[in-house]
Amino acid sequence: MNLVFLGPPGAGKGTQAKMIAAQEGWAHISTGDMLRAAVKAGSELGNQAQEFMAKGELIPDSLMCAVVGDRLREPDCSKGWILDGFPRTQVQADRLDETLASLDLKLDHCVYFHIGREILVSRLTGRLTCKGCGANFHSQALPPEQDGVCDHCDGELYVRVDDQEETVRNRLKVYDESTAELIDFYDQRGRLLRIEADGTVEEVGARLAAQLRDS
Ligand code: AMP
Repeated sequence: MNLVFLGPPGAGKGTQAKMIAAQEGWAHISTGDMLRAAVKAGSELGNQAQEFMAKGELIPDSLMCAVVGDRLREPDCSKGWILDGFPRTQVQADRLDETLASLDLKLDHCVYFHIGREILVSRLTGRLTCKGCGANFHSQALPPEQDGVCDHCDGELYVRVDDQEETVRNRLKVYDESTAELIDFYDQRGRLLRIEADGTVEEVGARLAAQLRDS
């Protein structure tokens, strides 16, 4: 299956995408993870992205579209994929359509993670991310077994620079201004599945699996 996960930052897209992709053998394409890896590696892409990310702004469309276009051509995408965090603008959505047409692929669904705004701010500002595998924890809602250490790979947990409260508020504003319109875009094409994204990881995962099964 080929899926886009859409929703505000902190809605749980990455957590759910990682789980389903691993279960189904699909590629999990998180543009945020790719950019963070590029920043860490000090690559050309990382150098270009770093400042935008620290402020919670979007990386220019042309750059993002090229990165995702290349990624979708890699062999591990042949069994299916989940795009997590892309598209984020109408230009990116249009370019994605063109790329899929050129690869003779179709998008099965866009899964929209719906969640109240207050929950998002507290989720994001308490979020702890693993430096090793990228898994997310939460200081209150989903604490790791051992302080500061990832349950999955023993990697070190850290607070992402863009999870500071001021940047979080800017990321939500950017989402409202540039990304939220894609909900209607995919809905009008009959591609939208909406899930309620509040509750535990297991609850949301069960809702998502049921929706995908019935779709
Ligand atoms: P995320 O991990 O998806 O919240 O992404 C973290 C940051 O990476 C965002 O706040 C943007 O600065 C950048 N980013 C990720 N995906 C995109 C995208 N599709 N378009 C532009 N910028 C992006």
